[in-house]
Amino acid sequence: MVFRDFQGFIQDKMPHDLPKAYDPTAIEDHWAEYWVREKLFAVPTPDTEQTADEAQGREAAEGPDGKSAFTILLPPPNVTGRLHMGHMLNQTEMDILTRWRRMSGRKALWLPGTDHAGIATQMMVERQLTEEGTSRQKLGREAFVERVWEWKRHYGGAILDQMKRLGASVDWSREYFTMDERLSVAVREAFMRLYEQGLVYRGAYIVNWCPRCQTAISDLEVVYDEHKGHLWEIKYPVLNDDGTDSGEFITVATTRPETMLGDTAVAIHPEDERYLHLHGKKLRLPLMNREIPIVLDEWVSREFGTGAVKVTPAHDPNDFALGMRHNLPSINVMDDRAHINEAGGAYAGLDRYVARKRVVADLEAQGLLAGIKDYTNNVGHCDRCKTVVEPRLSTQWFVKIQPLADKAIAAVEEGHIRFTPEMYKKTYINWMSNIHDWCISRQLWWGHRIPAWHCGVCHQITVPKPGSTGDPMHCAHCGSDRITQETDVLDTWFSSGLLPVSVFGWPNITTETRADAALSRADFDAFYPTSLLVTGFDILFFWVARMIMMGCWFSAEVPMPDGSPRPLAESVPFKEVYIHALVRDANREKMSKTKGNVIDPIEIVKQYGTDAVRFTLASMASPGTDIAFNVARTEGYRAFANKIWNAARFIFMNVDRAAEVGITVDPAVLGGMPYDSPDDTLEARWIVAELHAAATEVNRSLESYRYDDAANAIYKFFWGSFCDWYLEIVKLRLDFSETADRTRTKAALTTLVTVFEAALRLLSPFMPFITEELWHAAYDDHPLPAKSIALTNYPQGDLKYQMESYSEFAQSVALDFLDVSRLITEIRALRKEVGVEERAATPVELRIAAERHPVVDANVAIIESLARVSDLRLVEDISAGLPKRHTPSFDVAVVYERTIDLPAERDRLTKECLRLEKIVANDERALNDPGFAGKAPAHIVEGRKKQLAENRLLLEKAKAALDGLPKG
Ligand SMILES: [Zn+2]
Ligand SMILES: [Zn+2]
Repeated sequence: MVFRDFQGFIQDKMPHDLPKAYDPTAIEDHWAEYWVREKLFAVPTPDTEQTADEAQGREAAEGPDGKSAFTILLPPPNVTGRLHMGHMLNQTEMDILTRWRRMSGRKALWLPGTDHAGIATQMMVERQLTEEGTSRQKLGREAFVERVWEWKRHYGGAILDQMKRLGASVDWSREYFTMDERLSVAVREAFMRLYEQGLVYRGAYIVNWCPRCQTAISDLEVVYDEHKGHLWEIKYPVLNDDGTDSGEFITVATTRPETMLGDTAVAIHPEDERYLHLHGKKLRLPLMNREIPIVLDEWVSREFGTGAVKVTPAHDPNDFALGMRHNLPSINVMDDRAHINEAGGAYAGLDRYVARKRVVADLEAQGLLAGIKDYTNNVGHCDRCKTVVEPRLSTQWFVKIQPLADKAIAAVEEGHIRFTPEMYKKTYINWMSNIHDWCISRQLWWGHRIPAWHCGVCHQITVPKPGSTGDPMHCAHCGSDRITQETDVLDTWFSSGLLPVSVFGWPNITTETRADAALSRADFDAFYPTSLLVTGFDILFFWVARMIMMGCWFSAEVPMPDGSPRPLAESVPFKEVYIHALVRDANREKMSKTKGNVIDPIEIVKQYGTDAVRFTLASMASPGTDIAFNVARTEGYRAFANKIWNAARFIFMNVDRAAEVGITVDPAVLGGMPYDSPDDTLEARWIVAELHAAATEVNRSLESYRYDDAANAIYKFFWGSFCDWYLEIVKLRLDFSETADRTRTKAALTTLVTVFEAALRLLSPFMPFITEELWHAAYDDHPLPAKSIALTNYPQGDLKYQMESYSEFAQSVALDFLDVSRLITEIRALRKEVGVEERAATPVELRIAAERHPVVDANVAIIESLARVSDLRLVEDISAGLPKRHTPSFDVAVVYERTIDLPAERDRLTKECLRLEKIVANDERALNDPGFAGKAPAHIVEGRKKQLAENRLLLEKAKAALDGLPKG
C-alpha cells in the first residue's frame, strides 16, 4: 500500500488553521499512515513492555486500573480476499470495541492475520498457470508450492492494506499468516498429539470428486446448476428364499443409472405398507446379477417416487451414511477419470456417460426399464473447470471428534462462553450434539502437508511423536527407509481452528527445550483466553465451533501462571462470541453479484470518507438485526462530520481571538471530564450534564453491543445539544471587548473547549479520523498528553450530573434549561406563524409562575438573542388578541405591530389591481368568445369560469385594501 508522504506535516502546519471545508480524503490517509508508522496499537509481550509503554506515554503493566487485557482476534480473511461490506461491518464493530476498551483503561490487543485459504489460493494460481499454457501437474508439487509463495509475496494480503487505510487499530507487529513457520509447528504438533491420543484415523469417505482436476473438492467449491435430465425407473426382481425370481419387482428411480453397478441394497421405509410383505427379502441387481438385501430405514421418504431407493454407498453421501447404518459394503465403480473400473463388470473402461447409455439400452432389452421421465435437478459442477462433479468414495483422514466436542459443549453449557445474540447458543449446542467425525484431509498441494509417512515395505503409517521436530527417516514399524510422506494437506480450518492458542506461542510454551519458551509463555499468560470473538454466523460451525473444541483441548495441558491446572473456564479460546448481522442493500435485499446490488465499501469510503461509512454502520448495528445500507444515511453522517468540523473552526477562531487579548485556556484542564466548572451559567451547567448523560449512555450501550444506541446518543449530543443549543448560546458569552468581564469570558471559553475536547474523545472510537485531526488541533502548539486521541481516556459519565440521579443539581439544571429552550422554540414558531421578517426583533409577553421569574431574568439575554426578542415582558395575563402559545409551565405571545411604508404599499396595491384587472378582462373575453365557449371541452370551460370568479374576488380585496389605506 502506498501512503502519501506526510513527513513533517504535523510540525509544519498551523493546527488552529484548519482548512475551511471538511475533506476526509485530505486527513484520513495521513492519520492511517501515522497510526501504523508510530506503532500506536502495538501491545508487546509483557516482559518487554515497559519501554514500549513509556514510548507511548502510557501507564505500564495491567492497564491504569490493573484491569485485565482486552484481547480480540481478527477472523483472518483469505490471503486472496478483497474487502467487502461484511468485512467493513465486522471490522468497524471490532475497532469500536477495541478503541473503547483501550481508552477505558484496558490493555487492548487486536491481533490481525491472513488465512492461506488452501482451495481459493491454489485455484487462483492454477488459473494463472492455465493462462500461461501450463498446469500444476506439469510444474510438479515443489515448484507449484514455490509459485504460490511467490504469488503470496507479491499480491497476498491486499485486504490487510485496505484495513490499514480504514484505520483499524490492530497490532501490526503481531501480524501472522497461517502458513508461517511458527503456526505450522503448532499445526503439526496438534496433528501428532491427536494421532498419539488415538483421535486421528484414516477411513473411507464420500467426497466431491472432479474427474478433470482429479482431486476432491470441498462443498464450497461445488456450484450447482439446474439441469434438464431424466429420471430412469428400473425394476429390480424380488427373489424367493431359494434364490429364484419370484416374478415380483421393486421399482427404483435414478438420475444416474450407471451407478446401479455399485448398488449394494434397496431401502424402504419400515412402515411403508406397500412393502411390508417384502421385509427380509432379497433382490437381484440387474446387469450385475448380484444378490442385494432390502433394508428398512426411516430416512426413506414414502412420498417420493415409489418409496423404494437404490443404495450406492460409494457414490452418494446419503447412501454412504445409510450404508454405514446397515453395515453395507461400498463398491466404487469408477476411477479417477470417472471411467467405469473393473468393479463395473462388462462396462469396465467406459466413460460414465457412455456407460449410462449402454446400461439404459441393456435394461430396456431385458424388459427391466419401467419408464423414463423428464426431470430437472441441481447438478454440481467443479467451480474451476465446470466439469460435473462425481460423488465418490475415497480414503481420507479424520478426527474422532466426540471427546473434543464433549468439552466444547460443557464450556458453553457451563457458561464459560457467552453468545450474543443468545439464540446462537442453542444453534451451537444442537450442532455439537449431532456432530460427525471431521474429515481433515484435502487432495491439494497448497496447505499444511499431513505429517504422516507411508511405508513401502510393511504399508504401515508412521507419525512422529509429539514434540519432535524434523521428518522421520525410517518406518517406525519395520525400520525401512522406504517411506514417503502423505500427499494430502490438512483442511484449512484445522489451522485456523488452532489460532487462539497458536498465535500466543502454543506449543512452545509446553516444551521446555525451546529457547523462546519464556517469551511465549508471557504472551499466553497475558492474552489467553481472549476476551471476544466478533464474526458472522456463516462460519459458526466451520470456525467458531472448531476453535472452541481445539482451544479447550490443547490449552488444558498448559498450566495456569501460578502452576495450578487450567480449569475449563480458562481453557476456552474466548469468553464472548458476538455474531454480527448481514449488511443488505437499501431495500433490505441480500447483496449479490447476480442482482448487481453489491456495494463496494472502498467506493463509498472514497465518496464520503471512512468516518461517515463507519458511523452509518454503527448507527444501525445491534444484536440480531440486519443492516439495510442506505447511502443517503452516509451522506447525512458526512454532514454530521462537517458540522463538527465547522464547530471546531468556530471554537478555534474564538480561542485565537481570546489569545490576542491575553485570555488563554490552560491545556491542563483538558483530558478529563468537565465537572464543577467556574462557569456557573445555565448553559454551562446544562451542557456538562448533557455530556455526562451521553457518556453514560454510550458506555452502557457498548457493554451490550448496542452500537446503534451508542452512536445515536453521541449524534444527539453533538448535533442537537452541543451545536444547535450550546454553541448558539455561548457565542453571547465570548465577549473580548475592553469592557468585558474577562473572568466570565475565560470561564465560558474554558467550558466550551473542555466539553468539546471530551466530546471528541467520546466520538473517537466511531469516527477515529476527524477526531484525531481536531484533537491535535485543539492542543495547538502545546505539548500533547499522548501521541493520539486513541491513547487518551474515554469519558465516563457521573450520575450526579444526570437527570436520572434526581440530584438537586441535575433536576434544577434540566428544568431551568427546559424552560428556557422551550420558550425560545415557542417564540420562534410563533414568529414564523405570524410572518415576522427574519431579522426583525419583536416584543413578547410571557406569563410564567413567579418562582420561575429568576430563571427568566437570569437568561433574558439568551432568550432575546436566540428568539430575536426586543422586549421580554413578564405579565399576569397575555393581552387579548395576540397570537399565543401554551405550555404546561408558561404562555407566551408575540406582540407584532407591523409598520407600513405607506407610499410603497399604495404603489404595490395599485400595481396588483392593474394586474388582476387585466387577467379578469382576459377571462371574460375568452368566455364570451363563441369560438372558445362553444368548442372547448366542458371541464375546461368550467375551470375558466371558476378562475374568473376567484380573480374577481382577489381584485375586490385588493381594491378594498387600497381604499382602506390612510390618505396622505
Ligand atoms: Zn475441475
Ligand atoms: Zn514399514
